[in-house]
Amino acid sequence: MILGAHVSIAGGISKSVERAFEIGCETFQIFTKNQMQWKIPVLKDSEIKKFKENVAKLGVSPATVHSSYLVNIASPDKKTRLRSLNDLIADINRADKLGIPYLVFHPGAHKGKGVRYALDTIAEGLNEVLFKTNNTKVTVLMETTAGEGTNVGYKFEHLSYIMNRVEIRNRIGVCIDTCHIFAAGYDIRSKHTYRKTMNFLDTVIGFENIKAFHLNDSKRELGSRMDRHEEIGKGKIGIKAFELLVNDHNFENVPGILETPGGIDGYKRNISILKSLRRWK
Ligand code: MN
Ligand code: MN
Ligand code: ZN
Repeated sequence: MILGAHVSIAGGISKSVERAFEIGCETFQIFTKNQMQWKIPVLKDSEIKKFKENVAKLGVSPATVHSSYLVNIASPDKKTRLRSLNDLIADINRADKLGIPYLVFHPGAHKGKGVRYALDTIAEGLNEVLFKTNNTKVTVLMETTAGEGTNVGYKFEHLSYIMNRVEIRNRIGVCIDTCHIFAAGYDIRSKHTYRKTMNFLDTVIGFENIKAFHLNDSKRELGSRMDRHEEIGKGKIGIKAFELLVNDHNFENVPGILETPGGIDGYKRNISILKSLRRWK
């Protein structure tokens, strides 16, 4: 696994590369704009140039853009759904300009309309988004969720249902968040449970469709359906799962991105823990 963290773009997108380098990342994830607002600021050519120069100079390249937290392409509210689709399209174009291969987004929440409604609405939305960005090389990754509220994507079957309805298959994939799948009820704490969950994942989604991981321990119990990230080894998942994951040959060249609490110092600590778990150095 190629290891990294989600880093801030404060002070400009190009600054994220320096931050990633300083904390020992081999890859990283960013938001391309404020994740709590719909506003889409202009991405200046000078900023793109500086970003790419930093990537070349420091030798650490980004794997993923994370979409805005407001995005809900399953929303029964027309205005919210339209804004969400436009936001995803904008982020795909921004990722493409920055040379970032993947956009990660949360599938969405049905707000009372039911799981099937959400899955169909998401698939329809994705077809529109992928069609309108077919001039880019960016692959869109659905992130597994903890299943809080009316969020869908907490069962692997939800994601395969959507994938099977996406027309441009080579631009859709999945990002597995370890905290989220654990909270959703998938155990990975021992060699045995890890194997069982991974075999099921391969059967339902297929390893070839797993393009990224979010590496987070969980403050909450197995099956709690609560999304609360914890530092690696300090939560209810524990260190063994991460040892199995970073050494899993099925995911040798797959990025694993930390989204743990504890700021820059936390990231430094967690990245060095993950690196120390590798049997190859
Ligand atoms: Mn996420
Ligand atoms: Mn995540
Ligand atoms: Zn989370």
